[in-house]
Amino acid sequence: MAGGTGKMRRKGDLPSKICAACGLPFAWRKKWARDWDAVKFCSDRCRSAKAA
Ligand SMILES: [Zn+2]
Repeated sequence: MAGGTGKMRRKGDLPSKICAACGLPFAWRKKWARDWDAVKFCSDRCRSAKAA
C-alpha cells in the first residue's frame, strides 16, 4: 500500500456565490447542501438585512 496523497483538496473545490445583501463572496456550506440553488445570502444576518 503506497501513496495516500488523496487527502489534499483544492481550495476552489467548493462552489461559491455573491451575497445579495453585502456583496461579498461566500462558499458552499454543508447546511446549504439541500438548497444551494436557493441560497442568496451569506448569513441569516444578511438575509434579514435585505428585508429592511
Ligand atoms: Zn452577506
